[in-house]
Amino acid sequence: MYPLKLIPAVKDYIWGGTKLKTDFGIKSDLEKVAEAWTLSCHKDGANIIANGSDKGKTLAAWLEEKGFEVLGSKGKNLDSFPVLIKLIDAKDNLSVQVHPYDEYAQRVEHEQGKTEAWYVIDCEEGAELIYGFKKEISSQEFEERIMNNTLLDVVNSVPVKKGDLFFIESGTLHAIGKGILLAEVQQNSNSTYRVYDYGRVGADGKPRELHIKKAVDVTSCTPPTHPYGAKPVTEKGDGYEVTELVNCDIFKSYSVKIDSEYSDKAGEESFVSLLSLDGDFTFSCGETELSLNKGESIFIPANMGEYTVKGKGEILKVTL
Ligand code: ZN
Repeated sequence: MYPLKLIPAVKDYIWGGTKLKTDFGIKSDLEKVAEAWTLSCHKDGANIIANGSDKGKTLAAWLEEKGFEVLGSKGKNLDSFPVLIKLIDAKDNLSVQVHPYDEYAQRVEHEQGKTEAWYVIDCEEGAELIYGFKKEISSQEFEERIMNNTLLDVVNSVPVKKGDLFFIESGTLHAIGKGILLAEVQQNSNSTYRVYDYGRVGADGKPRELHIKKAVDVTSCTPPTHPYGAKPVTEKGDGYEVTELVNCDIFKSYSVKIDSEYSDKAGEESFVSLLSLDGDFTFSCGETELSLNKGESIFIPANMGEYTVKGKGEILKVTL
């Protein structure tokens, strides 16, 4: 057992840009890269192991071989891998959408629901996103406004800045706006119900499908209650600074800003995922030494003990 360096899966959705290739070192022959899935066991976008004796295997196949014990005590009894981590480059607006909660997703889509959290890495001046409704409306009004194209009149548009955190509980209407580059930590699910797509057409020249009935089923029509924006620093150490971004039932995530060096451990409770958001680092843990350059990610199995990251920049750390 050793820490795994992962090759991401990439997606060229119509709204994507090229910054993940030019600024984050994501390798792809695709013209644009909308998303890089940097920690994924999902069937729609598998990670491949890049180092050591398991090189070339998918993370999902490796996990099946090793068993869920490697996820730690919080993950060993789960039915499926709990999280999916992505870098998202929205050159254009994403569709206005909603994701189902667990019970609905399990019944209808045969996978987990999708609560997600966005950490804004960079954005253009004036960038905005949609976070729920401005005020409470009825499900009937929601459906009518989808049908008569007036949904944007009642959504909550929020200006964003670098470092903001948004917690998007399943059932919350949302859309990432153009000019935003963010890291998303979400449940391991790909169930999306689209309700408004700015009149765009897909690669085949036809409007992309809307999923109105399912969206009305799962959408919470009251304004969201989770606070959003910048989070306070939670730990200052010698040569690093940690900010807790999310601490929910499903996962914990942290921004770790490193000046010189940061050490922590992968204990018995959980695996640790590290993703470089900015800067090139050297990672070491036991016998293993790896580069962790901007846009790259490392998965450390539970119980691997202490690890050290040296360099200057920012890392997204995720655990259960
Ligand atoms: Zn979403």
